[in-house]
Amino acid sequence: LRPAVGIAAIQLGIPKKMLAVVVPDEEGNSQEFALANARIVSESVQLSYLKNGEGCLSVEKEHQGLVPRHARITVKAYDLLQDKEITIKASDYLAIVLQHEIDHFSGTLFYDRINQNDPWHAEKDSIIIE
Ligand SMILES: [Zn+2]
Repeated sequence: LRPAVGIAAIQLGIPKKMLAVVVPDEEGNSQEFALANARIVSESVQLSYLKNGEGCLSVEKEHQGLVPRHARITVKAYDLLQDKEITIKASDYLAIVLQHEIDHFSGTLFYDRINQNDPWHAEKDSIIIE
């Protein structure tokens, strides 16, 4: 086992659109969701990247490079923790983690999004998250 902030059901061999995330917010509080059928309903044009790139429990090998993500997204899903349909307006780290996990629903891994010709290229006006 390795520490992680998120996991999708398919990573455990369960072919369902389910994911769980535990992400600290800026005050250090834990934001926890266990989502079924999560989908992105809107996304910012502005992009953000994790400064040191991303990793994944399902990817043993390290892949260097910035992974472009939308800086802000709105996600609709059924939250199994709250037992209701919810809308999450996410930015910063939470937005990146949710996009990473939702990508697993379609078999997309973080390194699929790295610019192969220029892995550390950041788009103009994008946000780099430490
Ligand atoms: Zn992953």
